[in-house]
Amino acid sequence: MCWKCGLFTAASIADDKRERVRCGQWDDDAFTAARACGFYEGALRASIIELKRRPRVAQRLVRLMFDTLQRQPVNSADLIIPVPLHPDRERERGFNQAALLARELARLSGLPLDEHSVIRSVHTERHRAGMDSKARRDSVNDAFAVRHPDSIAGGRVLLLDDVFTTGATVSACAAVLKDAGADEVFVLTIARA
Ligand SMILES: [Zn+2]
Repeated sequence: MCWKCGLFTAASIADDKRERVRCGQWDDDAFTAARACGFYEGALRASIIELKRRPRVAQRLVRLMFDTLQRQPVNSADLIIPVPLHPDRERERGFNQAALLARELARLSGLPLDEHSVIRSVHTERHRAGMDSKARRDSVNDAFAVRHPDSIAGGRVLLLDDVFTTGATVSACAAVLKDAGADEVFVLTIARA
């Protein structure tokens, strides 16, 4: 498995060499490692679509996240931060689904939750059709800012979102967290597109 993005890349690797296995696709991205409960298909896909409509997180989903959180290296996180929505978008939907997931995971894991230190200042949620991954990346790069660096400095952050697609969103968010002094930024999502 690629240590950084969590995708399978090799058949058998000795435990002591696992950290050196990389697929190479995310080498420049600011997050330390990303893990997901599974692929964006079937029941996970249905759960994520439902979660965008109704602010209720199924306990089975919380349990899945919790199980994924036990894996290395994300198990060394000491603070949960949900990827923020732009305030306009959150008003439109009525809630931030990443924050709902983060609250549930914080409750089950006992890890502290920080919903206020990272803000989303640029509206980038809707990407134009046909935007390639570089264009998406450029559009999201300045989207985030850290408001309370003191509470981030030295932290091992678990950045939570519903889906990992191009990685552009979590990477931009991870970059500002690293700039604010976070030691590590791990990414945990329900699904991997
Ligand atoms: Zn990888």
